[in-house]
Amino acid sequence: MKKTNVLYQHGTLALLVPGLLAGTITLKELMEHGDTGIGTGEGLNGEVVIIEGKPYQFDSFGHANLLKEDFTLPFANAHFSAYQSIGQLTGADSTKFAAAGLNNRPNSNTFFSILAKGTFSYIKTRAVVKSERPFDTLAATAKKQSIFEAHDVQGTLLSYYSPELFHGAAVAGYHNHFIADDLSIGGHILDFQIKQAKLFKQVFDTLEQHLPVDNQEFMEHDFDVDGDLGEVISKAE
Ligand SMILES: [Zn+2]
Repeated sequence: MKKTNVLYQHGTLALLVPGLLAGTITLKELMEHGDTGIGTGEGLNGEVVIIEGKPYQFDSFGHANLLKEDFTLPFANAHFSAYQSIGQLTGADSTKFAAAGLNNRPNSNTFFSILAKGTFSYIKTRAVVKSERPFDTLAATAKKQSIFEAHDVQGTLLSYYSPELFHGAAVAGYHNHFIADDLSIGGHILDFQIKQAKLFKQVFDTLEQHLPVDNQEFMEHDFDVDGDLGEVISKAE
Protein backbone atom coordinates (compact mmCIF):
# COMPACT_ATOMS: atom_id res chain seq x y z
CA MET A 1 0.00 0.00 0.00
CA LYS A 2 1.20 3.49 -0.83
CA LYS A 3 1.87 5.56 2.26
CA THR A 4 0.34 8.98 1.69
CA ASN A 5 1.41 10.25 5.15
CA VAL A 6 5.13 10.07 4.28
CA LEU A 7 7.29 12.74 2.71
CA TYR A 8 10.39 11.14 1.23
CA GLN A 9 13.53 13.22 0.90
CA HIS A 10 16.76 12.15 -0.74
CA GLY A 11 19.82 14.16 0.28
CA THR A 12 19.70 17.43 2.15
CA LEU A 13 20.07 21.01 0.99
CA ALA A 14 23.01 21.29 3.40
CA LEU A 15 25.00 18.73 1.43
CA LEU A 16 24.68 20.86 -1.70
CA VAL A 17 26.33 23.82 0.07
CA PRO A 18 29.97 22.64 -0.26
CA GLY A 19 29.25 21.32 -3.77
CA LEU A 20 28.31 17.69 -3.20
CA LEU A 21 26.29 17.81 -6.40
CA ALA A 22 26.73 14.22 -7.63
CA GLY A 23 23.50 12.49 -8.59
CA THR A 24 23.07 9.90 -5.86
CA ILE A 25 19.60 8.55 -6.59
CA THR A 26 18.05 7.57 -9.90
CA LEU A 27 14.65 8.85 -10.91
CA LYS A 28 13.45 5.24 -10.94
CA GLU A 29 14.46 4.80 -7.28
CA LEU A 30 12.98 8.15 -6.33
CA MET A 31 9.64 7.36 -7.92
CA GLU A 32 9.33 4.20 -5.86
CA HIS A 33 8.60 6.75 -3.10
CA GLY A 34 6.13 8.94 -4.92
CA ASP A 35 4.25 10.04 -8.02
CA THR A 36 4.70 13.72 -7.11
CA GLY A 37 7.87 15.60 -6.32
CA ILE A 38 10.55 18.21 -6.89
CA GLY A 39 14.34 18.14 -7.16
CA THR A 40 17.39 19.01 -9.19
CA GLY A 41 19.72 16.99 -11.40
CA GLU A 42 23.41 16.18 -10.99
CA GLY A 43 25.46 19.38 -11.04
CA LEU A 44 22.23 21.31 -10.31
CA ASN A 45 21.08 20.37 -13.78
CA GLY A 46 17.79 22.21 -14.06
CA GLU A 47 14.67 21.96 -11.92
CA VAL A 48 12.58 18.82 -11.64
CA VAL A 49 8.80 18.73 -11.24
CA ILE A 50 6.94 15.43 -10.98
CA ILE A 51 3.16 15.64 -11.27
CA GLU A 52 0.78 12.70 -11.69
CA GLY A 53 3.70 10.34 -12.23
CA LYS A 54 5.22 12.41 -15.06
CA PRO A 55 8.77 13.64 -14.33
CA TYR A 56 9.79 16.81 -16.14
CA GLN A 57 13.03 18.75 -16.00
CA PHE A 58 13.08 22.44 -16.90
CA ASP A 59 16.62 23.17 -18.03
CA SER A 60 18.53 26.44 -18.22
CA PHE A 61 17.66 26.76 -21.94
CA GLY A 62 13.98 26.91 -21.04
CA HIS A 63 13.22 23.45 -22.39
CA ALA A 64 10.88 20.99 -20.68
CA ASN A 65 12.34 17.50 -20.89
CA LEU A 66 10.47 14.34 -19.97
CA LEU A 67 13.06 12.51 -17.86
CA LYS A 68 14.26 8.96 -18.24
CA GLU A 69 14.52 6.50 -15.37
CA ASP A 70 18.32 6.71 -15.18
CA PHE A 71 18.41 10.49 -14.60
CA THR A 72 20.19 11.10 -11.29
CA LEU A 73 19.57 13.69 -8.59
CA PRO A 74 21.56 14.94 -5.57
CA PHE A 75 18.42 16.27 -3.85
CA ALA A 76 14.73 15.52 -4.23
CA ASN A 77 11.40 15.29 -2.45
CA ALA A 78 8.67 12.83 -3.40
CA HIS A 79 5.36 11.60 -2.04
CA PHE A 80 2.27 9.74 -3.15
CA SER A 81 -0.49 12.16 -4.03
CA ALA A 82 -3.58 12.24 -1.79
CA TYR A 83 -4.45 15.93 -1.82
CA GLN A 84 -7.63 17.36 -0.41
CA SER A 85 -9.30 20.50 -1.66
CA ILE A 86 -8.94 23.52 0.62
CA GLY A 87 -10.76 26.03 -1.59
CA GLN A 88 -9.47 28.59 -4.01
CA LEU A 89 -7.54 31.80 -4.26
CA THR A 90 -8.26 34.82 -6.42
CA GLY A 91 -5.74 37.59 -6.97
CA ALA A 92 -3.15 36.29 -4.54
CA ASP A 93 0.56 36.92 -4.18
CA SER A 94 3.02 34.63 -2.41
CA THR A 95 2.13 36.07 1.02
CA LYS A 96 -1.57 35.34 0.58
CA PHE A 97 -0.75 31.91 -0.79
CA ALA A 98 1.50 31.16 2.20
CA ALA A 99 -1.18 32.22 4.66
CA ALA A 100 -3.87 30.16 2.91
CA GLY A 101 -1.68 27.07 3.00
CA LEU A 102 -0.86 27.41 6.67
CA ASN A 103 -4.10 28.66 8.09
CA ASN A 104 -6.76 26.39 6.73
CA ARG A 105 -5.57 24.04 9.43
CA PRO A 106 -2.76 25.46 11.56
CA ASN A 107 0.30 23.31 11.04
CA SER A 108 3.47 25.31 10.74
CA ASN A 109 5.17 22.57 12.77
CA THR A 110 4.85 19.75 10.29
CA PHE A 111 5.58 19.04 6.64
CA PHE A 112 2.86 19.46 4.05
CA SER A 113 2.42 19.98 0.33
CA ILE A 114 0.18 22.39 -1.54
CA LEU A 115 -0.91 22.24 -5.16
CA ALA A 116 -2.28 25.39 -6.74
CA LYS A 117 -3.88 24.70 -10.12
CA GLY A 118 -5.20 27.49 -12.26
CA THR A 119 -4.24 30.71 -13.97
CA PHE A 120 -1.21 32.68 -12.90
CA SER A 121 -1.18 36.34 -13.92
CA TYR A 122 2.59 36.34 -13.37
CA ILE A 123 5.19 33.66 -12.90
CA LYS A 124 8.97 34.01 -12.55
CA THR A 125 11.12 30.89 -12.41
CA ARG A 126 14.77 29.98 -12.52
CA ALA A 127 16.68 26.98 -13.74
CA VAL A 128 20.33 26.52 -12.81
CA VAL A 129 22.92 25.81 -15.51
CA LYS A 130 24.33 22.29 -15.18
CA SER A 131 27.86 22.40 -13.82
CA GLU A 132 30.52 19.78 -14.45
CA ARG A 133 33.02 18.14 -12.12
CA PRO A 134 34.84 19.24 -10.07
CA PHE A 135 31.70 20.86 -8.68
CA ASP A 136 31.84 24.33 -7.19
CA THR A 137 29.92 25.39 -4.06
CA LEU A 138 26.14 25.83 -4.08
CA ALA A 139 26.46 29.61 -3.90
CA ALA A 140 28.79 29.76 -6.94
CA THR A 141 26.85 27.16 -8.95
CA ALA A 142 23.45 28.67 -8.27
CA LYS A 143 24.64 32.06 -9.56
CA LYS A 144 24.74 30.61 -13.06
CA GLN A 145 21.03 30.47 -13.65
CA SER A 146 18.50 31.41 -16.29
CA ILE A 147 15.43 33.40 -15.32
CA PHE A 148 12.09 32.94 -17.07
CA GLU A 149 8.94 35.04 -16.86
CA ALA A 150 5.43 34.67 -18.21
CA HIS A 151 2.04 36.33 -17.87
CA ASP A 152 -1.40 34.74 -17.84
CA VAL A 153 -0.25 31.17 -17.88
CA GLN A 154 -2.22 28.07 -16.92
CA GLY A 155 -0.35 25.67 -14.75
CA THR A 156 0.38 23.99 -11.46
CA LEU A 157 2.41 25.25 -8.55
CA LEU A 158 3.77 22.36 -6.47
CA SER A 159 4.92 23.42 -3.03
CA TYR A 160 6.52 21.66 -0.08
CA TYR A 161 6.44 23.30 3.32
CA SER A 162 9.11 22.48 5.91
CA PRO A 163 9.04 23.60 9.56
CA GLU A 164 11.71 26.05 10.73
CA LEU A 165 13.37 23.33 12.80
CA PHE A 166 14.32 21.45 9.61
CA HIS A 167 16.06 24.34 7.84
CA GLY A 168 19.24 22.84 6.45
CA ALA A 169 17.70 19.47 5.69
CA ALA A 170 15.22 21.40 3.54
CA VAL A 171 14.44 25.10 3.07
CA ALA A 172 12.35 26.27 6.02
CA GLY A 173 9.02 27.50 4.75
CA TYR A 174 7.74 26.91 1.23
CA HIS A 175 9.79 25.47 -1.64
CA ASN A 176 7.82 26.08 -4.83
CA HIS A 177 8.21 24.64 -8.31
CA PHE A 178 6.01 25.36 -11.32
CA ILE A 179 4.90 23.55 -14.46
CA ALA A 180 2.77 25.18 -17.14
CA ASP A 181 0.03 23.03 -18.68
CA ASP A 182 1.58 23.58 -22.12
CA LEU A 183 5.14 23.14 -20.69
CA SER A 184 6.06 26.63 -21.94
CA ILE A 185 7.54 27.61 -18.56
CA GLY A 186 8.52 25.87 -15.37
CA GLY A 187 11.19 25.42 -12.72
CA HIS A 188 12.00 26.77 -9.28
CA ILE A 189 9.65 29.67 -8.52
CA LEU A 190 11.14 33.04 -7.64
CA ASP A 191 7.91 35.04 -7.75
CA PHE A 192 4.29 34.55 -8.71
CA GLN A 193 0.86 36.07 -8.72
CA ILE A 194 -2.22 33.87 -8.78
CA LYS A 195 -5.12 35.12 -10.87
CA GLN A 196 -7.39 32.28 -9.88
CA ALA A 197 -6.42 28.84 -8.63
CA LYS A 198 -7.84 25.86 -6.82
CA LEU A 199 -5.83 24.85 -3.77
CA PHE A 200 -5.14 21.33 -2.58
CA LYS A 201 -3.28 20.26 0.54
CA GLN A 202 -1.68 17.10 1.87
CA VAL A 203 -0.22 16.92 5.38
CA PHE A 204 2.60 14.51 6.26
CA ASP A 205 3.20 13.10 9.72
CA THR A 206 6.43 11.36 8.71
CA LEU A 207 9.62 12.56 7.05
CA GLU A 208 11.66 9.77 5.53
CA GLN A 209 15.16 11.23 5.19
CA HIS A 210 17.37 9.21 2.90
CA LEU A 211 21.12 9.92 2.74
CA PRO A 212 23.63 8.99 -0.01
CA VAL A 213 25.70 6.57 2.07
CA ASP A 214 27.24 5.00 -1.05
CA ASN A 215 28.75 8.34 -2.04
CA GLN A 216 32.29 8.51 -0.66
CA GLU A 217 32.61 12.28 -0.99
CA PHE A 218 29.52 12.78 1.15
CA MET A 219 30.56 10.23 3.74
CA GLU A 220 34.03 11.76 4.11
CA HIS A 221 33.04 15.41 3.95
CA ASP A 222 33.62 17.61 7.01
CA PHE A 223 30.63 19.99 7.16
CA ASP A 224 32.21 21.98 10.00
CA VAL A 225 34.37 23.89 7.53
CA ASP A 226 31.48 25.09 5.36
CA GLY A 227 30.43 28.06 7.49
CA ASP A 228 26.81 28.89 8.17
CA LEU A 229 24.98 26.27 6.11
CA GLY A 230 21.55 27.69 6.95
CA GLU A 231 22.44 31.15 5.72
CA VAL A 232 23.92 29.91 2.44
CA ILE A 233 20.78 27.84 1.79
CA SER A 234 18.49 30.80 2.46
CA LYS A 235 20.41 32.89 -0.07
CA ALA A 236 20.61 30.24 -2.79
CA GLU A 237 17.06 28.99 -2.48
ZN1 LIG B 1 13.77 24.28 -6.11
